[in-house]
Amino acid sequence: MFLCIPIVCGTHDWNKPYDNNPKHAGLFCPHCHNNSVSPIKRREFFTVWFIPLIPLHWGKQLHCNICGWRQDFSNDAQLQQMLQPAQAPLPEKH
Ligand SMILES: [Zn+2]
Repeated sequence: MFLCIPIVCGTHDWNKPYDNNPKHAGLFCPHCHNNSVSPIKRREFFTVWFIPLIPLHWGKQLHCNICGWRQDFSNDAQLQQMLQPAQAPLPEKH
């Protein structure tokens, strides 16, 4: 006897806030121009029967809550660059 059981598969995100630093919330989004970007730890898995099997993405991202813009970043130095957009010019060398 053949039972037709649909295989339920898909992807699922497990997102966590990157940290609790209030300075890291409400960053400027270059896509929709709102201050709605926050850093997250993103883990996305391919799931079968809601069981995570294959990691598709594992890392840190900046994520805009309004338009869904995302950008990977790998360390705190890159995050600091996002916090300080190019306002202060580099000191000139004499
Ligand atoms: Zn946005």
